[in-house]
Amino acid sequence: MDLNLKKHQNDLLFLPLGGSNEIGMNVNLYHLDGKWLMVDCGVGFASDVPGVDMLAPDLSFIKAHKKNLLGIIVTHIHEDHLGSIQYLWRDLEVPVYASTLAANFLRAKLEEYKLDKQVPIRIIDNTKDLEIGPFKVEFLGLTHSVPEMKALIVKTPKGNILHTGDWKFDPNPVVGEVSDKARIKEMGDAGKFLAVICDSTNAISSGHSKSEGDLYHSLKLLVEGRKGLVGITTFASNIARIHTIAKIAKEVGRKIVLAGFSLHRIYEVGKKSGYFMEEFEFISDREMKFYDKKDILVICTGCQGEPLAAAKKIATDTHPSIRFTVGDLMIFSSKIIPGNEKKIFSLFDALAKKQIDVMTEKDHFVHVSGHPSQDELREMYELAKPKIAIPVHGEFLHTKTHAELAKECGVVKTIQVENGLAVRLQEDNFQSESYIAGFVKSGYFGVDGKQLLDLKGEVIRERKKLQNSGLVTVSFAIKNDLELLSKPKIICVGSYDLKSDRETENFLIREIEIFLKQKAKELGFSSKKGLSFLKKKKKKLQDNKIIAELEKALRSKLLKVFEDLMGKRPVCEIMINLVNN
Ligand SMILES: [Zn+2]
Ligand SMILES: [Zn+2]
Repeated sequence: MDLNLKKHQNDLLFLPLGGSNEIGMNVNLYHLDGKWLMVDCGVGFASDVPGVDMLAPDLSFIKAHKKNLLGIIVTHIHEDHLGSIQYLWRDLEVPVYASTLAANFLRAKLEEYKLDKQVPIRIIDNTKDLEIGPFKVEFLGLTHSVPEMKALIVKTPKGNILHTGDWKFDPNPVVGEVSDKARIKEMGDAGKFLAVICDSTNAISSGHSKSEGDLYHSLKLLVEGRKGLVGITTFASNIARIHTIAKIAKEVGRKIVLAGFSLHRIYEVGKKSGYFMEEFEFISDREMKFYDKKDILVICTGCQGEPLAAAKKIATDTHPSIRFTVGDLMIFSSKIIPGNEKKIFSLFDALAKKQIDVMTEKDHFVHVSGHPSQDELREMYELAKPKIAIPVHGEFLHTKTHAELAKECGVVKTIQVENGLAVRLQEDNFQSESYIAGFVKSGYFGVDGKQLLDLKGEVIRERKKLQNSGLVTVSFAIKNDLELLSKPKIICVGSYDLKSDRETENFLIREIEIFLKQKAKELGFSSKKGLSFLKKKKKKLQDNKIIAELEKALRSKLLKVFEDLMGKRPVCEIMINLVNN
């Protein structure tokens, strides 16, 4: 059932276009009185698509209604919440509302895309409600792995919604705010929350997430007393962790080296926004050679085994200036994200081969999550007492477990949404399925460098074919009578090693010659009666059409040869150039 907007003109709707029943790519919409408000516009992570590491959401639905879109509110700086803005803002052209840190981070990214002057970024004011169309939005500080994570209380005459964003309860977050439980309780006790739209990332983990403050003690113990070089790799965006590590480095008397572009960027943006203000001593990687190894701590990118990031370069001795050797230590202060295991374990292995000590979340207390476990979710529902719970930011198992847990906590209605499903939020619809307002189009694009690609489109199809069996190109020029003007040039890229097989190359050239002679005969050419003769005979025939047919026929002939040689069919491109004479 398509969403009938006329019918629901005055309804309060919640519509996720990304991030529901998947981790990443969060895009959520709220609707009232014909107006829309977007919360977050993130990227997702792609796998198995060559050249495409990230996914951007299909926003064609809201693009078609952009005159009624009031703006995009960004909850925090993580890529899964703001990473698509640079690709999709031109389709929406609305103001972006963000905290100082998120605004500075976004501006740095938009500069790369030459959009920094165009995108109006408004800094949110924590002290008063943002009035935007029919919505009033109150911003609430919640702890996460980055500071300035802003939960939203979306206030409307139809009811109030707590949109949590990513959060945890941590009394000692090192940097950033302690979650404002008091405000949630105040609203909850007064029965003011119609719905809570909430983070499900760790909904299947029992207990309580561990504290960043406790992690600081653990990491410090691991670093203290080490004689050699210490490296710690973490997510570049994890400002809390970088701060924790920098604090430890300072206390154990090590200078800090940042390795990896995204770490430098986050450090600059953080500093501009008022973080990293303690006197930490940073040196550049090139200056390392002037110091003793025991006086340096390297913070590096690449905790997920990314092939081009610093940790991998260090492990393979391909970093321009950082060298780890026997007895040095690399700590992975990060989660092993499902799907990345292969890359990460090969990185562990490369380090171990060089006799570098490796510590990971599997064997040491080196990482804490920025998301709520079950005890925190329970506490959230006890504080907020919503009538409706909509778990988002998680895969199906996470949102299902989360919904069951919310029910146990006394929430009357739990709704498992999916991308593209518009949910009507209303006091009276708890017992029925009347909450389903309808569906709209949702989906993905692959982020390929600076362009967005349809994942089912021609470019990706061709790329997969190339990845699987490589390319052969054949080019030559012919005269009117189909006689070769030069020796055909055959290039194999990632398909067959023709360079060391002259015999096959000569065979292919002979095949081309035979093919052309046969064709000339078939078409009734002689040296005098060439293509021009044929064109005269069949007036409608054009050079390019004849050439296209020749190319097609030659392609299928040569493909048979390559299929015999390789046991598979490469992508084959034939380019015949007709020289009229
Ligand atoms: Zn986050
Ligand atoms: Zn997130």
